[in-house]
Amino acid sequence: MFTPEALKKELAKPKQIVVTTHHKPDGDALGSSLAIYHWLKAKGHTVHVIVPSDFPFFLDWMPGRDAVLVYTADQAANDTLIAKADLIFCLDFNWLTRTHAMEDALKKAAGTKIMIDHHLEPEGFDDFRHWDSQAAASAQLVYDFITNVMDDHQAITAEIASCLYTGIMTDTGSFRFQATTPAVHLIAADLITLGAINWEIHESVYNSFTENRLKFLGFCLLNRLEVIAEYRTALFYISRQDLVRFQVGTGDTEGLVNYALAISGMKLAALIIDRTELVKLSLRSTGDFPCNEVCKKYFNGGGHRNAAGGNSNEPLENVVKKFKSILPEYKALLIA
Ligand code: 5GP
Ligand code: MN
Repeated sequence: MFTPEALKKELAKPKQIVVTTHHKPDGDALGSSLAIYHWLKAKGHTVHVIVPSDFPFFLDWMPGRDAVLVYTADQAANDTLIAKADLIFCLDFNWLTRTHAMEDALKKAAGTKIMIDHHLEPEGFDDFRHWDSQAAASAQLVYDFITNVMDDHQAITAEIASCLYTGIMTDTGSFRFQATTPAVHLIAADLITLGAINWEIHESVYNSFTENRLKFLGFCLLNRLEVIAEYRTALFYISRQDLVRFQVGTGDTEGLVNYALAISGMKLAALIIDRTELVKLSLRSTGDFPCNEVCKKYFNGGGHRNAAGGNSNEPLENVVKKFKSILPEYKALLIA
């Protein structure tokens, strides 16, 4: 394990650095990655951001996005960058499996791995970690890392501030979720002071629907929502045909699951989607219901207590059935 002093020393000379994050990067994953990218680049390092897959169009305005390499677009070239990197920053994930196709290359890489993350139960692939499962977002930890671990608050530019604000805003559901402490608001206020234009970021992320996406939302609310009142649970299930019909792209289903929780009295919400590779499940809860435990135990996944995800190789109908069959086990928590 590296100490902060050793890391500072390491970063005192120009290095070859790779910054990476989890499959299908969300606002926090990309925001944290690009913030670190800008911070390192300004220090004179050679930095490559390599992400495992494409990311939602509503993040396609972020400062630095043009420099982002998608791993699978040129695997050989990206493997070389990863193998040659002196340091690898791993942001917003703590299990290498979360990087899907990049897992092998990262496993083999000899570079020092710096993990900044807020997910439970780190695997332990890292050489240095700035980790706190109570943090609202990895971007909050990146802010803390730059400010308090690297003592470099003065290096936070407007670009870095915008990236970090986006990460915190998206992971807190616009400052709504339980992890939104006074400290989170103070950091957000500082980021605005440093040049993040909060209202513009909100517009870019949330008011950038295509017409199809809004119609898809309407379709799901009307035709693909099932309320199981007995268990205070609501779920959406979406077939492959639905995705084709509305030309659903990466990011178009983001936030959909939250509508199920918006029904008064609901404790648990699920979104089950038949993607081409796998059936993907997203869970959201209020209070003590452990979404992460259910995802880990039954759906090959994990996450946080109130937001977690997983997947299955089974057909959509079976996954929906399996999900419903689990509810009785958690009845006491759901009707509490
Ligand atoms: P989402 O439902 O939006 O895909 O993910 C919500 C949260 O659940 C993510 O922040 C992440 O922590 C976790 N998560 C989603 N999918 C997976 C998965 O396949 N494996 C694990 N371990 N965690 C996941
Ligand atoms: Mn996150």
